Amino acid sequence: MSHQNIVNDLAIKTESKIVFIVLDGIGGHPLTPTGKTELETARTPNLNKLASVSILGLSNPIAPGITPGSGPGHLGLFGYDPLKCNIGRGVLAALGIGFPLRTSDIAARINFCTANSKGIITDRRAGRISTSLCTRLAKDLNKIKIKGVEIFVRPVRDHRASLIIRGKNFGGDISDSDPQKVGMKSKPLIGKDIDSKRTIKIVNQFVLKAQQILSVKKPANMVLLRGFAKYQRFPSIKEIYKLNSACIAVYPMYKGVARLVGMETLEGAETLDDEITVLKKNFNAHDFFFLHVKKTDSAGEDGNFKQKVKVIEDFDKKLSKILQLKPDVVVITGDHSTPSILKSHSWHPVPLLIYSKYCRADAAKKFGETDCLRGGLGIINATDIMTLAMANALKLEKFGA
Ligand code: ZN
Repeated sequence: MSHQNIVNDLAIKTESKIVFIVLDGIGGHPLTPTGKTELETARTPNLNKLASVSILGLSNPIAPGITPGSGPGHLGLFGYDPLKCNIGRGVLAALGIGFPLRTSDIAARINFCTANSKGIITDRRAGRISTSLCTRLAKDLNKIKIKGVEIFVRPVRDHRASLIIRGKNFGGDISDSDPQKVGMKSKPLIGKDIDSKRTIKIVNQFVLKAQQILSVKKPANMVLLRGFAKYQRFPSIKEIYKLNSACIAVYPMYKGVARLVGMETLEGAETLDDEITVLKKNFNAHDFFFLHVKKTDSAGEDGNFKQKVKVIEDFDKKLSKILQLKPDVVVITGDHSTPSILKSHSWHPVPLLIYSKYCRADAAKKFGETDCLRGGLGIINATDIMTLAMANALKLEKFGA
């Protein structure tokens, strides 16, 4: 019996509420061998106060040494085995904009780009065209018809759009056409199996027709495709944990991950303040809230140590507004580490805090990598965090007689 099945058997519906906060890429690294990480450098009196009555630890998002993307990182946090439930960005992007994907749909991300007369890419983002131009171009491409399949093109943001192909016996194991740099032509698509090879024939027809439509447009006269994936439905958070869950996030991709696991997405948040307002407004309507904070990761990716510290301090100032709602369980963690020194996601274990009346607070008093290492939880797999949150919310019955 798998771990998720056990939780599924034991989960009960109760009144208690869980607020699960993901500070994207919160784990960091010192700039010097004896220095402190971003989280340890930040002045965080409120996080530390909460940490002093919480149990702390670190978590491995996928496995020791493996650097995760945000998609698998989040799936692990929600208790799904990220190795078994690896889902492509194309699917996440389509779900992120609320496209009603059906099982076996193939989804990919479109980048509108600029190419010269020889097909050489001169700008991979077509000068980051406006979302309104992207919307018009997506509408044009959405009119493309290919025999035997349904094609959908939807705008996402700036130069990004979503392509969805609906038909029989298609595969999503397809390489990217985006060469990732300018001065090159788009790469031919490669499929790993018969179904994917069959899909490529359709995609190539689509690209050809798209090129004809876009050839007269400026600056976006071509499309690049990446993140091909086939949509499969996973058991939902409601089915596994009997939770009435809600997602509060600013960026579409995280709403996409939330929709993938059947969460309701609460709209209307553009800033952290908005997110907290949305949380307050809907606090009575749900028993599980996933609240996503993006800017910790963005600052890390930019290599901006100071900015990451500032984002953490800003979150710390607002934490009390969340705690005022008196959730029964508070989880604060990240989907992976994003140390500024590496300017990218990394494999380092991620700080984890779990608060509840029954959490058995440990001796670690500060929410930071060093204290988390001394915490009562030790180093755990991210997929165990949901089980712990459920247990702390007294939502799990005992196993066996
Ligand atoms: Zn992330």
